[in-house]
Amino acid sequence: MAEAYSLSADVIVVGSGPGGATLSRELSKRGKKVLLLESGGDHRGRLYYGTYAGAMLYSQRLGLLFTQEGLNIVRPMLLGGATNMYCGCAAPPPPWLKAKYSVDIDSEVAETIQELGIAPLPEELRGAASTRLAQAAQALGYPWEPQEKFMRPARSAHFDCGAKCMLGCRCGAKWNAAEYVDDAVAQGAHLETHADVERLFIEHGECKGVSGWMRGWPFTAHADTVVLCAGGLGSPSILRMSGLTQAGEGMTMDTTVIVYGITKEKGNGMDPPMTWSWENMADGYMLSALADPWLMYPIIATLKSPRYLGYFPKWKHLLGVMIKLKDEISGKVYQDGTISKPLTSRDRERMAEAERVSKRILVEAGADPSTIFTSPLRGTHPSGTVRLGEMVDIDLKTEIPGCYVCDASVFPEALGRPTVLTIIGLAKRLAKHLTA
Ligand SMILES: Cc1cc2nc3c(=O)[nH]c(=O)nc-3n(C[C@H](O)[C@H](O)[C@H](O)COP(=O)(O)OP(=O)(O)OC[C@H]3O[C@@H](n4cnc5c(N)ncnc54)[C@H](O)[C@@H]3O)c2cc1C
Repeated sequence: MAEAYSLSADVIVVGSGPGGATLSRELSKRGKKVLLLESGGDHRGRLYYGTYAGAMLYSQRLGLLFTQEGLNIVRPMLLGGATNMYCGCAAPPPPWLKAKYSVDIDSEVAETIQELGIAPLPEELRGAASTRLAQAAQALGYPWEPQEKFMRPARSAHFDCGAKCMLGCRCGAKWNAAEYVDDAVAQGAHLETHADVERLFIEHGECKGVSGWMRGWPFTAHADTVVLCAGGLGSPSILRMSGLTQAGEGMTMDTTVIVYGITKEKGNGMDPPMTWSWENMADGYMLSALADPWLMYPIIATLKSPRYLGYFPKWKHLLGVMIKLKDEISGKVYQDGTISKPLTSRDRERMAEAERVSKRILVEAGADPSTIFTSPLRGTHPSGTVRLGEMVDIDLKTEIPGCYVCDASVFPEALGRPTVLTIIGLAKRLAKHLTA
């Protein structure tokens, strides 16, 4: 078929989540001609942005993407990637990234914290119910702390953050990677949305560009350097189509559940998400204050059992403790898009222990023990599908000369904590490497 589009650049970046947006911005600032290809559109500022309908529109399969085992994966596909729907939590890279894998991104992370004003929300904005949960946890000896956030209330004329900001931030307080894309474009980067990259374009064993579909037409783009930042599910798919069949063998997810209970007081669904948390590094899980936005609750409850739909009228009194498990590498991303992500027996044991701790905290915070239940499994951090040390080297280079990967897929093991700050750090470091 004749090609509708043919483009060229010094560096092609595929995907505009925190990995691709940061890399495009840093490379453009350093004078590189960047072509950024994003399969989704830019939905910011639209009437539906940040609503339930909007979230369905820009999530893959309307938000109903499931693994073979029934785990629900939320996969936002739009400019800025998953940072449109993230909870705005920031965590430094885990210490093992430097100690075990020699990846030192301390200075890049410190620079980002300064640049974006990362800090916990002021005390009065952390939400009364979330703070009650944190105090209950502390009383039991679990040292919950205020969570660092990519949120600056001062950026918003009317800060009205609640769990609903997981649908997309409407008040403007939450940083979104699309803002780094705006910076990149202002520095001269060429952005194409609705550009779905299918495979690498390889010539004499070297990566020389990419090909795919743009607004329904085939296209090829040429560059001596290609960086895949299409996320934990997108990047392995492109690599497999390009002959690296090992990509997507095994993955991590930071598998998540929310343990709910009903209290007489107000629940935390209207609080900003995850304002307090605690990471149990020894057992590999994180706990945080989080409840689903109100209209998502009936879906989650129905998936669990119609019995819990009866709690829906009491949504305002629902207290939620989120568990994020540092899960072991397992499962596979298949070429047809099917995903398998089983929990290992060790994962199940640790999840059960985290559930026991969460129940104790909920009861201490005033939840009726007879109402406590755990939501079905969910995954918001698909990652570890193109692992550092196995498929990419310490400079994030694949075995194909000219092809790099810089997103959540390069995590060598589950982070078990918020990912975005680590991904930004990796992208800033890669930009330095590519322009050295
Ligand atoms: C509900 C939710 C809450 C979360 N909360 C937090 C939080 O509080 N803190 C935190 O740190 N993390 C959080 N995360 C996780 C975090 O947002 C992701 O781990 C992170 O955004 C991954 O970054 P990435 O660059 O790897 O990929 P993504 O952000 O997924 O971006 C990849 C981009 O590539 C595009 N793409 C995919 N395939 C192609 C292709 N073939 N061609 C062109 N473009 C393509 C996609 O459309 C997407 O825009 C949350 C995630 C979700 C879903």
